[in-house]
Amino acid sequence: MFANILFPINAEAFTYIVPGELESKIRRGSRVAAPFKKSHKTGVVTGFTAEPADKSKTLRSIQSLLDDEPLIPENILRLIRWVGQYYMSTTGLALKNAVPAAFFSGKTPGKPRITYSGDIGKQEAPELTPAQRRVLKEINRTDKGVFLLHGVTGSGKTEVYVNAIESLPPGRQAIVLVPEIAVTVQIIDRLRSCFGDRVVFFHSGLSAGERIRYWQKMRSGEAKVVIGVRSAVFAPFENAGLIIIDEEQEASYKQSDGLRYNARDVALARAKLEGMKIILGSATPSMEAFHAARKGKFRYLEIKNRVDHKSMPRIEIIDMTTEDKQTFSLSNKLITSLRENISAGYQSLIMLNRRGYSPFCICADCGHTYKCPACSITLIYHKDTRTLNCHYCGSYLKPGDLCPNCGGAKVKYLGTGTQRVEEELKALIPELAVRRMDRDTTRRKFSHYSIIKEMEDKKIDLLLGTQMVAKGHDFPDVTLSAIISADVTLNMPDFRSAERAFQLFTQLAGRSGRGDAPGKAYIQTYEAGHYVFDYVRNNDYKGFYEREMAQRKELSYPPSGKLLRIILSFRDRDAGEKAVAAVSERIKKIQHTPAGKDAEILGPAPAPIEKIRNFWRWHIILKGRNSRKLRERALAVLQSMKGSRGMKIDIDVDPVNLM
Ligand code: ADP
Ligand code: ZN
Repeated sequence: MFANILFPINAEAFTYIVPGELESKIRRGSRVAAPFKKSHKTGVVTGFTAEPADKSKTLRSIQSLLDDEPLIPENILRLIRWVGQYYMSTTGLALKNAVPAAFFSGKTPGKPRITYSGDIGKQEAPELTPAQRRVLKEINRTDKGVFLLHGVTGSGKTEVYVNAIESLPPGRQAIVLVPEIAVTVQIIDRLRSCFGDRVVFFHSGLSAGERIRYWQKMRSGEAKVVIGVRSAVFAPFENAGLIIIDEEQEASYKQSDGLRYNARDVALARAKLEGMKIILGSATPSMEAFHAARKGKFRYLEIKNRVDHKSMPRIEIIDMTTEDKQTFSLSNKLITSLRENISAGYQSLIMLNRRGYSPFCICADCGHTYKCPACSITLIYHKDTRTLNCHYCGSYLKPGDLCPNCGGAKVKYLGTGTQRVEEELKALIPELAVRRMDRDTTRRKFSHYSIIKEMEDKKIDLLLGTQMVAKGHDFPDVTLSAIISADVTLNMPDFRSAERAFQLFTQLAGRSGRGDAPGKAYIQTYEAGHYVFDYVRNNDYKGFYEREMAQRKELSYPPSGKLLRIILSFRDRDAGEKAVAAVSERIKKIQHTPAGKDAEILGPAPAPIEKIRNFWRWHIILKGRNSRKLRERALAVLQSMKGSRGMKIDIDVDPVNLM
């Protein structure tokens, strides 16, 4: 007997001989140790054959079987195969992303560490509103299919999720995906109050031992619910009945390197493969999801009002070209409003989608802009560490390092980041209790939680941060929210920038006025005439969708078509240019074949960020209607590039970022 063994590496399965004594015990999904090159590796059995495909090869034997029961259930084996194919990657890489590395490392797991446990039992279930009951009835009516739950901010979607899970038949589990662990606190508390320790919280901060323990808890069915980011979509439940994707539009569901999967789309595939229900929830659905609902592929459930008919926040656009400002970043109007809000005893939330102190640092003598030596992007000054940091590769300069252009040592700090806003606020309103929440202040495990708890306990007057503060939170005493510079989001050179802006502004405004007092929101911008603001102000999702869709159609951009991106990178720029010119010639030939009409091939052209980590980058973008045909075309393009030396190729199916 022969077995195919899959390892967590970028490859398909390898064939091994099954020793006689293992034949009765070994199964699909079993974890085994097997010789690999000069050492051995841990892998997983994906199937058996009576005869090996290639008889000329001498095969080696499996060394040992590591567990009594298969580690990976059939449905997950099937799912990773789908992921490997759909994303034009390998099943091995999909395995690596799906299953905790600790199972393959051979290391013995360490002691469990302290984990966040929440305030179990604190929350009581409220009586559902008529709108919540109506959507739940629809959801509970069937055990299959996709629901798009479009509920305005504060419409009580969490309660719908919890009730949908409670309504599952006994023995069926649920997977809850959230875009960031920073926004999970409230959902977890609520789930724990219902399901106690049958809730598993799966996130990147877990130790190897915790990962193993939690995996087994899910595998055995002891757990009922898993909540997590991205990789929780691979939860080894055999009997899942429901997947919930909260804030389904979030870009963070897409992995940005290696295997570039989108957890939302993998979840949709999983729900279909396993015949279960899936709820995509959002106040601002992605164009893709709303389009699918329009076409009848998803069932559309809408909640138009906030719980108890609380009013939506009043949104005001502040035109920074005419508005007076006292500080570098803050308009007088915003400052006045902040002061009033605080003296009335309420809390505020301010977002600026840029961490650090200053995003543009120029030489005071010659005007040279400081850029990362390894990446073609500007460096960001961080005042706490007194360094100019590259947010891509992590390298940094000291401001004392001399200007590469003129040798000058004086630096001018332009533009605004969260650290600068924090400094300005503290100087302006010294009695203000400000907390900053961005990636710099939340590196430590559970630092999110302490900030959110302090906010809940009203130890903070004003929470300031990057988009982390805009999503999901439910602080009833926040009655003012503001965006410092809408332009950062609006001016991203990406066809989705207006969509992102609409979503982000609506989300941030939606944090305001969720309690008894009405809320307001301010958006500071230098482009007050931009059409996005009209729709944001009127909370007009559908109007925005129609307008945006017309453009997408014209250009065949998603959801009106599909995209696939191939990134080519080279250490050496000249070699890259030559290779790309050759690739370009070969692609022209493919375009004129009959299959050419299935997909338009754009490029190769220099990527908007030309250099990252010392690699020079070009990209090819394929556009088409049908995702299978698009992959076939991409395969032809890849074939034509065979033999190009020194070229690193990354494939991004359904790209979210075209930089
Ligand atoms: P969303 O996720 O739709 O923005 P949440 O789920 O955070 O909204 O709910 C908003 C607020 O309304 C929360 O404070 C929640 O506890 C409360 N809430 C939800 N459902 C009900 C209900 N049926 N009755 C009273 N309060 C509710
Ligand atoms: Zn860099």
